[in-house]
Amino acid sequence: MNRRALLKLAAAAPVAPLAIQFVPMAQAAGHGDVTQVIGVQHFRVGDWIVTALLDGSLPIGPENFSNLSAEEAEAFTRAAFAEGPAMPTGVNAYVLRNGSQTVLVDAGGANAFPGLGALPAALEAAEIAADDVTHVVLTHLHPDHIGGLLGEAGPVFANASIHVSSADIAFWTDAEIRAQVPEAFQGFFDLAVAVIEAYGDKVMPFDGDTELLPGLAARALPGHTPGHSGFLVSSGDAEMLIWGDIIHVAAFQFPKPAAAIGFDVDPETAVTTRQALLAEVAESRLTVAGMHLPFPGVGHVVTDGEGYRFVPQDWTFAL
Ligand SMILES: [Zn+2]
Repeated sequence: MNRRALLKLAAAAPVAPLAIQFVPMAQAAGHGDVTQVIGVQHFRVGDWIVTALLDGSLPIGPENFSNLSAEEAEAFTRAAFAEGPAMPTGVNAYVLRNGSQTVLVDAGGANAFPGLGALPAALEAAEIAADDVTHVVLTHLHPDHIGGLLGEAGPVFANASIHVSSADIAFWTDAEIRAQVPEAFQGFFDLAVAVIEAYGDKVMPFDGDTELLPGLAARALPGHTPGHSGFLVSSGDAEMLIWGDIIHVAAFQFPKPAAAIGFDVDPETAVTTRQALLAEVAESRLTVAGMHLPFPGVGHVVTDGEGYRFVPQDWTFAL
Protein backbone atom coordinates (compact mmCIF):
# COMPACT_ATOMS: atom_id res chain seq x y z
CA MET A 1 0.00 0.00 0.00
CA ASN A 2 1.21 3.47 -0.87
CA ARG A 3 0.05 5.50 2.09
CA ARG A 4 1.52 8.78 0.90
CA ALA A 5 -0.37 8.47 -2.35
CA LEU A 6 -3.53 7.71 -0.44
CA LEU A 7 -3.18 10.84 1.64
CA LYS A 8 -2.35 13.01 -1.33
CA LEU A 9 -5.16 11.69 -3.47
CA ALA A 10 -7.65 11.54 -0.66
CA ALA A 11 -7.04 15.22 -0.07
CA ALA A 12 -8.19 15.79 -3.62
CA ALA A 13 -11.09 13.37 -3.35
CA PRO A 14 -14.12 14.94 -4.97
CA VAL A 15 -16.71 13.54 -2.59
CA ALA A 16 -18.84 15.55 -0.27
CA PRO A 17 -18.33 14.54 3.34
CA LEU A 18 -19.87 11.12 3.75
CA ALA A 19 -22.47 10.72 6.37
CA ILE A 20 -24.19 7.42 6.95
CA GLN A 21 -27.75 8.55 6.74
CA PHE A 22 -30.87 7.17 5.19
CA VAL A 23 -32.24 9.07 2.27
CA PRO A 24 -35.16 8.18 0.01
CA MET A 25 -34.38 5.99 -2.98
CA ALA A 26 -32.79 8.01 -5.72
CA GLN A 27 -35.21 9.17 -8.36
CA ALA A 28 -34.08 8.90 -11.93
CA ALA A 29 -33.75 12.30 -13.55
CA GLY A 30 -36.87 13.01 -15.54
CA HIS A 31 -38.12 15.33 -18.21
CA GLY A 32 -41.68 16.43 -17.70
CA ASP A 33 -43.70 13.35 -16.88
CA VAL A 34 -41.17 10.94 -18.34
CA THR A 35 -38.60 9.30 -16.10
CA GLN A 36 -36.05 6.72 -17.17
CA VAL A 37 -37.05 3.10 -16.55
CA ILE A 38 -35.48 0.87 -13.90
CA GLY A 39 -32.28 -0.77 -15.17
CA VAL A 40 -32.43 -4.58 -15.30
CA GLN A 41 -30.98 -6.89 -17.95
CA HIS A 42 -30.38 -10.63 -17.98
CA PHE A 43 -27.49 -12.56 -19.53
CA ARG A 44 -26.67 -16.25 -19.57
CA VAL A 45 -23.34 -17.80 -18.62
CA GLY A 46 -23.87 -21.56 -18.98
CA ASP A 47 -26.16 -22.59 -16.13
CA TRP A 48 -25.96 -19.15 -14.50
CA ILE A 49 -28.38 -16.35 -15.19
CA VAL A 50 -26.51 -13.10 -14.63
CA THR A 51 -28.75 -10.11 -14.00
CA ALA A 52 -27.34 -6.61 -14.31
CA LEU A 53 -28.97 -4.11 -11.96
CA LEU A 54 -28.51 -0.34 -12.14
CA ASP A 55 -28.12 1.47 -8.81
CA GLY A 56 -27.76 4.97 -10.26
CA SER A 57 -24.99 7.24 -11.45
CA LEU A 58 -22.26 9.56 -10.24
CA PRO A 59 -20.77 12.47 -12.21
CA ILE A 60 -16.99 11.99 -12.48
CA GLY A 61 -14.94 14.74 -14.09
CA PRO A 62 -11.47 14.58 -15.65
CA GLU A 63 -10.00 16.51 -12.70
CA ASN A 64 -10.35 13.31 -10.67
CA PHE A 65 -7.74 11.54 -12.79
CA SER A 66 -3.96 11.58 -12.85
CA ASN A 67 -2.08 10.82 -16.09
CA LEU A 68 -4.87 12.48 -18.06
CA SER A 69 -4.25 15.88 -19.63
CA ALA A 70 -7.01 18.40 -20.26
CA GLU A 71 -6.46 17.93 -24.01
CA GLU A 72 -6.79 14.15 -23.75
CA ALA A 73 -9.93 14.47 -21.63
CA GLU A 74 -11.47 16.82 -24.16
CA ALA A 75 -10.58 14.56 -27.09
CA PHE A 76 -11.91 11.43 -25.32
CA THR A 77 -15.11 13.25 -24.33
CA ARG A 78 -15.64 14.35 -27.91
CA ALA A 79 -14.88 10.85 -29.22
CA ALA A 80 -17.53 9.46 -26.84
CA PHE A 81 -20.11 12.02 -28.03
CA ALA A 82 -20.49 13.04 -24.38
CA GLU A 83 -21.25 16.54 -23.13
CA GLY A 84 -18.53 16.66 -20.47
CA PRO A 85 -16.67 17.78 -18.58
CA ALA A 86 -18.13 15.44 -15.92
CA MET A 87 -19.03 12.00 -17.20
CA PRO A 88 -22.23 10.43 -15.86
CA THR A 89 -20.84 7.16 -14.52
CA GLY A 90 -23.14 4.28 -13.76
CA VAL A 91 -23.02 2.13 -10.65
CA ASN A 92 -23.97 -1.45 -11.46
CA ALA A 93 -24.49 -4.55 -9.36
CA TYR A 94 -25.08 -8.10 -10.58
CA VAL A 95 -27.07 -11.08 -9.37
CA LEU A 96 -25.99 -14.61 -10.29
CA ARG A 97 -28.55 -17.41 -10.07
CA ASN A 98 -28.06 -21.09 -10.81
CA GLY A 99 -31.22 -22.59 -9.37
CA SER A 100 -29.82 -23.20 -5.91
CA GLN A 101 -27.84 -20.07 -5.12
CA THR A 102 -28.64 -16.39 -5.48
CA VAL A 103 -25.44 -14.37 -5.35
CA LEU A 104 -25.39 -10.57 -5.26
CA VAL A 105 -22.15 -9.05 -6.54
CA ASP A 106 -21.80 -5.63 -4.85
CA ALA A 107 -24.75 -3.70 -3.50
CA GLY A 108 -24.64 -0.19 -4.90
CA GLY A 109 -24.24 2.95 -2.85
CA ALA A 110 -27.56 3.77 -1.21
CA ASN A 111 -27.20 6.41 1.50
CA ALA A 112 -23.59 7.10 0.58
CA PHE A 113 -23.93 9.36 -2.46
CA PRO A 114 -26.84 11.25 -3.99
CA GLY A 115 -27.98 9.71 -7.26
CA LEU A 116 -27.59 6.13 -6.04
CA GLY A 117 -29.93 3.74 -4.27
CA ALA A 118 -32.08 2.26 -7.04
CA LEU A 119 -30.88 -1.31 -6.34
CA PRO A 120 -33.95 -2.34 -4.26
CA ALA A 121 -36.27 -1.18 -7.07
CA ALA A 122 -34.14 -3.02 -9.64
CA LEU A 123 -34.20 -6.20 -7.53
CA GLU A 124 -37.96 -5.91 -7.24
CA ALA A 125 -38.32 -5.43 -10.99
CA ALA A 126 -36.22 -8.58 -11.47
CA GLU A 127 -38.43 -10.40 -8.93
CA ILE A 128 -35.49 -11.14 -6.65
CA ALA A 129 -36.33 -10.87 -2.94
CA ALA A 130 -33.61 -9.60 -0.60
CA ASP A 131 -34.29 -12.55 1.72
CA ASP A 132 -33.59 -15.00 -1.12
CA VAL A 133 -30.01 -13.75 -1.57
CA THR A 134 -27.77 -16.53 -0.24
CA HIS A 135 -24.38 -14.88 -0.80
CA VAL A 136 -23.13 -11.33 -1.22
CA VAL A 137 -19.68 -11.12 -2.80
CA LEU A 138 -17.92 -7.75 -2.71
CA THR A 139 -15.30 -6.49 -5.14
CA HIS A 140 -14.12 -4.03 -2.45
CA LEU A 141 -15.39 -1.99 0.47
CA HIS A 142 -15.94 1.41 -1.17
CA PRO A 143 -19.27 3.10 -0.34
CA ASP A 144 -20.67 2.89 -3.90
CA HIS A 145 -20.40 -0.92 -3.58
CA ILE A 146 -21.56 -1.53 0.00
CA GLY A 147 -23.99 1.29 0.86
CA GLY A 148 -26.94 -0.87 -0.20
CA LEU A 149 -26.09 -3.55 2.38
CA LEU A 150 -27.48 -1.52 5.27
CA GLY A 151 -31.00 -0.26 5.76
CA GLU A 152 -32.66 1.48 8.66
CA ALA A 153 -33.38 -1.91 10.25
CA GLY A 154 -29.82 -3.16 9.77
CA PRO A 155 -28.66 -5.80 7.28
CA VAL A 156 -30.75 -5.70 4.08
CA PHE A 157 -29.68 -9.22 3.01
CA ALA A 158 -30.43 -10.94 6.28
CA ASN A 159 -29.96 -14.51 5.03
CA ALA A 160 -26.75 -13.96 3.08
CA SER A 161 -23.14 -14.64 3.93
CA ILE A 162 -20.82 -11.76 2.98
CA HIS A 163 -17.62 -12.57 1.10
CA VAL A 164 -14.90 -9.95 0.85
CA SER A 165 -11.11 -10.08 0.73
CA SER A 166 -9.35 -10.02 4.09
CA ALA A 167 -6.96 -7.37 2.70
CA ASP A 168 -9.85 -4.95 2.21
CA ILE A 169 -11.30 -5.69 5.63
CA ALA A 170 -7.89 -5.09 7.24
CA PHE A 171 -7.42 -1.77 5.43
CA TRP A 172 -10.88 -0.26 5.80
CA THR A 173 -11.28 -1.20 9.46
CA ASP A 174 -7.83 0.15 10.42
CA ALA A 175 -8.42 3.03 12.83
CA GLU A 176 -4.82 4.18 12.48
CA ILE A 177 -5.12 4.66 8.71
CA ARG A 178 -8.52 6.31 9.15
CA ALA A 179 -7.02 8.82 11.56
CA GLN A 180 -4.49 9.89 8.91
CA VAL A 181 -6.88 10.57 6.04
CA PRO A 182 -8.77 13.83 5.55
CA GLU A 183 -12.16 14.04 7.21
CA ALA A 184 -14.02 13.82 3.89
CA PHE A 185 -12.52 10.37 3.40
CA GLN A 186 -13.15 9.02 6.90
CA GLY A 187 -16.75 8.16 6.07
CA PHE A 188 -15.41 5.46 3.71
CA PHE A 189 -13.87 3.74 6.72
CA ASP A 190 -16.94 4.29 8.91
CA LEU A 191 -19.29 2.70 6.40
CA ALA A 192 -17.00 -0.32 5.93
CA VAL A 193 -16.81 -0.80 9.70
CA ALA A 194 -20.60 -0.43 10.02
CA VAL A 195 -21.19 -3.10 7.36
CA ILE A 196 -18.64 -5.53 8.80
CA GLU A 197 -20.10 -5.09 12.29
CA ALA A 198 -23.73 -5.33 11.16
CA TYR A 199 -23.18 -8.66 9.36
CA GLY A 200 -20.93 -9.98 12.16
CA ASP A 201 -20.13 -13.67 11.87
CA LYS A 202 -21.81 -13.84 8.47
CA VAL A 203 -18.73 -12.07 7.06
CA MET A 204 -16.44 -14.63 5.47
CA PRO A 205 -13.10 -13.15 4.40
CA PHE A 206 -11.24 -14.72 1.49
CA ASP A 207 -7.61 -14.41 0.42
CA GLY A 208 -6.33 -13.85 -3.10
CA ASP A 209 -7.56 -16.15 -5.85
CA THR A 210 -10.13 -18.40 -4.19
CA GLU A 211 -13.05 -20.54 -5.32
CA LEU A 212 -16.06 -19.30 -3.39
CA LEU A 213 -18.67 -21.63 -4.86
CA PRO A 214 -18.60 -24.12 -7.71
CA GLY A 215 -18.51 -21.84 -10.76
CA LEU A 216 -17.62 -18.69 -8.85
CA ALA A 217 -14.02 -17.75 -8.07
CA ALA A 218 -12.47 -14.59 -6.67
CA ARG A 219 -9.50 -13.12 -8.49
CA ALA A 220 -7.17 -10.61 -6.85
CA LEU A 221 -7.02 -7.36 -8.86
CA PRO A 222 -5.22 -5.08 -6.39
CA GLY A 223 -4.48 -1.39 -6.55
CA HIS A 224 -7.80 0.43 -6.51
CA THR A 225 -8.01 -0.97 -2.98
CA PRO A 226 -5.61 -3.46 -1.37
CA GLY A 227 -8.06 -6.34 -1.68
CA HIS A 228 -9.94 -5.25 -4.80
CA SER A 229 -11.16 -8.45 -6.50
CA GLY A 230 -12.93 -9.63 -9.58
CA PHE A 231 -15.21 -12.66 -9.76
CA LEU A 232 -15.00 -15.26 -12.50
CA VAL A 233 -18.41 -16.78 -13.18
CA SER A 234 -18.13 -20.07 -15.04
CA SER A 235 -20.26 -22.97 -16.20
CA GLY A 236 -19.03 -25.50 -18.72
CA ASP A 237 -17.19 -23.55 -21.41
CA ALA A 238 -18.97 -20.29 -20.59
CA GLU A 239 -17.19 -17.64 -18.53
CA MET A 240 -17.65 -14.04 -17.49
CA LEU A 241 -15.29 -11.95 -15.38
CA ILE A 242 -17.01 -9.33 -13.23
CA TRP A 243 -14.03 -7.04 -12.79
CA GLY A 244 -15.28 -4.49 -10.24
CA ASP A 245 -13.57 -1.13 -10.65
CA ILE A 246 -10.92 -1.90 -13.27
CA ILE A 247 -12.48 0.96 -15.25
CA HIS A 248 -14.18 3.98 -13.67
CA VAL A 249 -14.83 6.17 -16.70
CA ALA A 250 -14.92 4.09 -19.87
CA ALA A 251 -14.46 7.06 -22.20
CA PHE A 252 -11.13 7.94 -20.53
CA GLN A 253 -9.55 4.70 -19.36
CA PHE A 254 -10.10 2.36 -22.32
CA PRO A 255 -8.17 4.67 -24.63
CA LYS A 256 -5.71 5.55 -21.82
CA PRO A 257 -5.41 2.78 -19.19
CA ALA A 258 -2.64 4.74 -17.42
CA ALA A 259 -5.23 7.33 -16.31
CA ALA A 260 -5.81 6.69 -12.61
CA ILE A 261 -8.72 7.88 -10.49
CA GLY A 262 -8.12 9.75 -7.25
CA PHE A 263 -9.88 7.05 -5.25
CA ASP A 264 -7.13 4.50 -5.95
CA VAL A 265 -5.38 3.54 -2.73
CA ASP A 266 -2.30 2.59 -4.74
CA PRO A 267 -2.61 4.21 -8.18
CA GLU A 268 0.58 2.66 -9.60
CA THR A 269 -0.57 -0.85 -8.80
CA ALA A 270 -4.07 -0.03 -10.04
CA VAL A 271 -2.65 1.05 -13.41
CA THR A 272 -0.45 -2.05 -13.67
CA THR A 273 -3.42 -4.29 -12.83
CA ARG A 274 -5.65 -2.50 -15.36
CA GLN A 275 -3.10 -2.65 -18.16
CA ALA A 276 -2.40 -6.34 -17.58
CA LEU A 277 -6.07 -7.30 -17.37
CA LEU A 278 -7.09 -5.31 -20.45
CA ALA A 279 -4.31 -6.96 -22.45
CA GLU A 280 -5.35 -10.37 -21.16
CA VAL A 281 -9.07 -10.11 -21.91
CA ALA A 282 -8.45 -8.48 -25.30
CA GLU A 283 -6.32 -11.50 -26.15
CA SER A 284 -8.56 -14.18 -24.60
CA ARG A 285 -11.85 -12.56 -25.73
CA LEU A 286 -13.28 -13.22 -22.27
CA THR A 287 -16.66 -11.62 -21.57
CA VAL A 288 -16.32 -8.95 -18.89
CA ALA A 289 -18.72 -7.00 -16.71
CA GLY A 290 -17.91 -3.94 -14.64
CA MET A 291 -19.53 -1.89 -11.92
CA HIS A 292 -18.84 1.41 -13.72
CA LEU A 293 -19.08 0.30 -17.34
CA PRO A 294 -22.06 1.86 -19.14
CA PHE A 295 -25.15 -0.11 -18.04
CA PRO A 296 -25.62 -3.07 -18.27
CA GLY A 297 -21.82 -3.08 -18.35
CA VAL A 298 -21.33 -6.42 -20.11
CA GLY A 299 -19.20 -6.83 -23.21
CA HIS A 300 -15.73 -7.39 -24.61
CA VAL A 301 -12.46 -5.51 -24.88
CA VAL A 302 -10.53 -5.05 -28.10
CA THR A 303 -7.26 -3.29 -28.78
CA ASP A 304 -7.57 0.10 -30.48
CA GLY A 305 -4.47 2.07 -31.37
CA GLU A 306 -2.36 2.44 -28.24
CA GLY A 307 -5.31 1.65 -26.01
CA TYR A 308 -8.50 -0.35 -25.98
CA ARG A 309 -12.14 -0.08 -26.88
CA PHE A 310 -15.19 -1.58 -25.15
CA VAL A 311 -17.66 -3.50 -27.33
CA PRO A 312 -20.94 -3.72 -25.40
CA GLN A 313 -22.81 -6.99 -25.69
CA ASP A 314 -25.96 -6.65 -27.75
CA TRP A 315 -29.38 -7.29 -26.28
CA THR A 316 -29.92 -10.98 -25.61
CA PHE A 317 -33.21 -11.93 -27.26
CA ALA A 318 -33.50 -15.40 -25.74
CA LEU A 319 -31.93 -16.69 -22.57
ZN1 LIG B 1 -16.66 2.07 -7.46
